[in-house]
Amino acid sequence: GGLPSDGFIDSTLADIHTRYRGLDDGEVADYIPILAEADPRWFGLSLIESDGAVHEAGDVDIEFSIQSISKAFVFALVCQSRSSELVHERVGVNNTGLAFNSVMAIELNDGKPLNSMVNAGAIATTALMPGATSAEKWENIRTGLSRFAGRPLRLDGRVYESEMKTNQRNKALARLLESYGRIITDPLDTVDIYTRQCSLLVTAHDLAVMGATLADGGINPLTGRQVVSAEVARDTLALLASCGMYENSGEWLFEIGLPAKSGVAGGIVAIAPGKGALGTFSPRLDSAGNSVRGQRACFHISRVLGMNLFASN
Ligand code: GLU
Repeated sequence: GGLPSDGFIDSTLADIHTRYRGLDDGEVADYIPILAEADPRWFGLSLIESDGAVHEAGDVDIEFSIQSISKAFVFALVCQSRSSELVHERVGVNNTGLAFNSVMAIELNDGKPLNSMVNAGAIATTALMPGATSAEKWENIRTGLSRFAGRPLRLDGRVYESEMKTNQRNKALARLLESYGRIITDPLDTVDIYTRQCSLLVTAHDLAVMGATLADGGINPLTGRQVVSAEVARDTLALLASCGMYENSGEWLFEIGLPAKSGVAGGIVAIAPGKGALGTFSPRLDSAGNSVRGQRACFHISRVLGMNLFASN
């Protein structure tokens, strides 16, 4: 509820897809070597309403690695199985104002990683995932994220291998957190699990389903299953509003007015509480790491469909 008619949403998505499919600003990420193989023409838009209605345009079935978008859903799972207060206290919920992989953010704050949406805070959050062994923790993450998506998600072994060979910085962040007592499990095992969670394959459609689950008080609108509580969904959206779009989160909220999370493979999920969610995919990124076409599409869709949280009409 709360969005315009089905026909209007369908034609809006089709128009916006046509408008931005030729936009070639930005670069495909290559700091994880395999990501550079993505086709820069890929562009998919999916909007799923809280009542389960699906609207899509373009490449909504192409799989890509979820990357940082996993951070939002692992945060929700940890809040659900432990508590939001624990994550608030151990990791934090303020924006760093710094790049997603910043070491300085940790150093400037006496070892507190500041929030679960940047690499250091995400690694510290993954460390809080329940499970007796690393294998069990990983399985809990994979099945938890699959419940959000409403289908079994699988790991892309090539993405995982490629990132494990080049993630010295994440390993260093984990060691630094360990030195401050912010990670008490094995730091390198934790980075391994974190790298796996980032290598799960999703589509733009999956991202919309996952986001719509948060929009719908934790209930997946396609499966009807309660994945997390309404309180956890609310807390996750609050964190995404301040920290979901890297150091551009303030600008994003100002322009688009929706909690969202992006990943370096080119995905974005943007959530309109009580209404539904948008999943977008296009690999060319701006300098902060956010998909260029995805951002433009979210801006226009949010405007045209009246999704901005702060708009009174
Ligand atoms: N796996 C990536 C990393 O840790 C995720 C980065 C992102 O999407 O921001 O570098």
